[in-house]
Amino acid sequence: MDKLVHGTAADGTIRVVATITTNTTAEAIRRHQTSPTVSAALGRMLTGTLMLGATLKDFDRLTSRIDCDGPVGGIIAEANRTGGVRGYVRNPVAELPAKSNGKFDVSGIIGSGTFYVMRESGFEIGLHREPYVGSVPITSGEIAEDFAFYLAKSEQIPSAVMLGVLLNNVEPYVVASGGVLVQMMPGANEHIITIIEDTIANAPHLTSLISEGATPKDLLKTLLGVIEFEIMGETPVEFTCSCSHDRAMAMISSLGRTEVESMLAEQNGAEMTCGFCNENYVLNESDLIRIIENF
Ligand SMILES: [Zn+2]
Repeated sequence: MDKLVHGTAADGTIRVVATITTNTTAEAIRRHQTSPTVSAALGRMLTGTLMLGATLKDFDRLTSRIDCDGPVGGIIAEANRTGGVRGYVRNPVAELPAKSNGKFDVSGIIGSGTFYVMRESGFEIGLHREPYVGSVPITSGEIAEDFAFYLAKSEQIPSAVMLGVLLNNVEPYVVASGGVLVQMMPGANEHIITIIEDTIANAPHLTSLISEGATPKDLLKTLLGVIEFEIMGETPVEFTCSCSHDRAMAMISSLGRTEVESMLAEQNGAEMTCGFCNENYVLNESDLIRIIENF
């Protein structure tokens, strides 16, 4: 099971999050059948969104979204408060040749556009509060830098974000996936920030550590170096989707009586696929009759 830990360092002036998402990313790319470069991009988005969620107290759903003009067209990742995450990509098979350094050309498939973060809350008490939405232009397209730029610009939290996805060509294709997030809270000491930046700059690659078996806590130990930290909590993380046969029924119902009646007359049923997990739902004749009776 994938895991996420969050904690603090330097007397609470630094917030840290680390996660291993190898299985989560593997499940997402299995469901969406993504090309290698889209797999890397989707894995980074899912991981970044989970870590951002771990820094927030009051939310039911946190959505990160990239709207872009590159071949992938757009990516959405949606996390809940309990470590569940799901994702959607507009064009799962977009692909470009690797960059000259051998890395996936994630910024190439993204191109330019906007990075959005939306925070929704109040579901439990039956309220649908106005969501909080922040956005920044895509500056890097490598995703980790875009999360960092968003946090600095939109939430005024100077942050270091590391995201890594390592793939091979054997199913389930994901050798390692994970991330580390370091946030400087008000009062963070400049000297400590410099030490952390230096340690991060000289640390081994995140995916090397993960493929060698590092835990989220090990990632923090390596990336924070001499800075001591305290783990405040640990949560399991996994790919989950909130869709169900009942929700598929509700979606079909929302098309309206005339549409459902014509589906019944012409196809004796209806079919729909969840964009977030690719699960296919088949509604039979009696499902449609039940929907019509409820209008
Ligand atoms: Zn679904």
